[in-house]
Amino acid sequence: MYHVHARPAVTVIDRYVNVPGMPTEPRVVPIPCPFGQTGGVVYVYYIDAPQPALVDTGVAASPQATIEPALRAAGVSLKDVRWILATHGHWDHIGGAHAARSMAADGVSLALHAADAELLRSRRAHMVPNGYQALRFRYLDDAAALARHDALIMENLSGELAADRALNGGEQISLGGDVTIEVIHTPGHSPGSVSFVLSGLDWAFTGDSVQVCGSPGVPLYVDPVAYAASQKLLMEDVRPRRLHMGHRFRALDGSVLESVLDGPSVERALRDSVAMHERMAAAARTVTTLDVGNPRADALAPAAEALGLPAGDPTAWPPSFFTTLHGHLARAAVQRA
Ligand SMILES: [Zn+2]
Ligand SMILES: [Zn+2]
Repeated sequence: MYHVHARPAVTVIDRYVNVPGMPTEPRVVPIPCPFGQTGGVVYVYYIDAPQPALVDTGVAASPQATIEPALRAAGVSLKDVRWILATHGHWDHIGGAHAARSMAADGVSLALHAADAELLRSRRAHMVPNGYQALRFRYLDDAAALARHDALIMENLSGELAADRALNGGEQISLGGDVTIEVIHTPGHSPGSVSFVLSGLDWAFTGDSVQVCGSPGVPLYVDPVAYAASQKLLMEDVRPRRLHMGHRFRALDGSVLESVLDGPSVERALRDSVAMHERMAAAARTVTTLDVGNPRADALAPAAEALGLPAGDPTAWPPSFFTTLHGHLARAAVQRA
């Protein structure tokens, strides 16, 4: 398990000097991978340890088109990769899993949390009607747009496979030498979202577990209660010194954050994440006419207005707006019943 730790005072003097008794700081290569048709970028990270690890894989084309050229430029290769560590099962993070695994070292091990296993095993699992990709089209009642999106998702998943190692949280994964990864279950964005934390260094690879204000200004999570608990866990117990995130998310002031954050910016991002969750909960409370069993976009107009989105134009609302609000509203409906 993660440990609640008093941070040794010596680590704040200069984190780039290896302190006796502290683990070696491995080189981390961040790789921005373009995906989708709206300028999306997902960050994949190579951890240069004795047993090198790749955190996430981008979409189907990413390993060949983006990751391998970036690794070659850094003097390494996908052929060196012994661990593929998936932060969660969403298409922009595991779409390239089959391709990356086939290009990696013999005996490579692909690790993913058990709660997201179905997203790796089945392309169709990404498009279930109430799932993270299709729900918005139910609100918009747009079958043609749904069909186009379905085709996009299918072609961006490189294969269907089982994880070599199903994670549950709490595992320690040795990358050789004194480099060890601790697996922390941080659900909410998806049920199987995890954070990989380098033991002793407190560098966290959070994927999409910490959304701040999301990329479009609205965070994406399917379970509001789990999401809030995960932000609290990271903020109070894990207390990372460095965050490596899956995208460049927006801060509460509207600025776009770097994908890697250090020191005080880590605490600020986590605080903003909690504050934005509270804004989403407040926006959800303005919605009074929604039938969650038969959702319609116009019922969400008050929440759109509360968040500064164009209330009269649901097609302009970001996908995350539908998914995240639906989570809050479905929970409220259960509590009323
Ligand atoms: Zn995601
Ligand atoms: Zn993502």
